[in-house]
Amino acid sequence: MTNETTGGMNQIIAQLRALSPKRPHTYGMLLQVTRLQASKLRQLRTTSDELDINLAWLLNQRAVPVNRVPSYQIGGESGLTTDAISGRLEIYVNANEPLVRQRFTLLHEFKHVLDFEDADLLHSQLGSGNEKRRAVQIERLANEFAAHVLMPTMLVKRAWFAVQDIDGVAALFNVSPEAMATRLGKLGLVGKPDIEPRMYFRRVGTLPDLGTVRDELDCATAVAA
Ligand SMILES: [Zn+2]
Repeated sequence: MTNETTGGMNQIIAQLRALSPKRPHTYGMLLQVTRLQASKLRQLRTTSDELDINLAWLLNQRAVPVNRVPSYQIGGESGLTTDAISGRLEIYVNANEPLVRQRFTLLHEFKHVLDFEDADLLHSQLGSGNEKRRAVQIERLANEFAAHVLMPTMLVKRAWFAVQDIDGVAALFNVSPEAMATRLGKLGLVGKPDIEPRMYFRRVGTLPDLGTVRDELDCATAVAA
């Protein structure tokens, strides 16, 4: 790959990181920053009405190498972003998963890349001292980023009103039907199972922290997508 490819990628990363002021943020603020970064990335890398976004630029750049590896090499996870394997920051994507899911994983991991250097500072307020909850919230932010890059609000709404079919709209955006159903549910365009009240009804009073349960359920839903 040429230096230009590496330089171009470093420039994109710098532009997206610049949207995230280097100080601790609340989860709500981080969500806003995440959506801004997603929309900026689309602005930089796509035409405004591109539904099936081409991710070759991310897959093939060399600034943060992307390795598509067999599932067993990353413990069955969908993806991994780390500098602990080669000494430099790299992305690993589970090549045994369907391509639609690998696209989501690639962008999810790219969000970890964006936050990597300043993660301790940026995320220091998350989880209210609960490490597990903090980790779940960081994963939710990465899912939010991937969802907004692949399925921008206005394009999804327009396609949904034209097609009115989850599989059909998912195919247009080259995402899994599960990811599209989650996105449409969050936009209030389709109903989604009302999990929280049911959990509350079953378990109220027996759990110390229902917020954590809710986060885990949300994350499980998102990860399943
Ligand atoms: Zn992750």
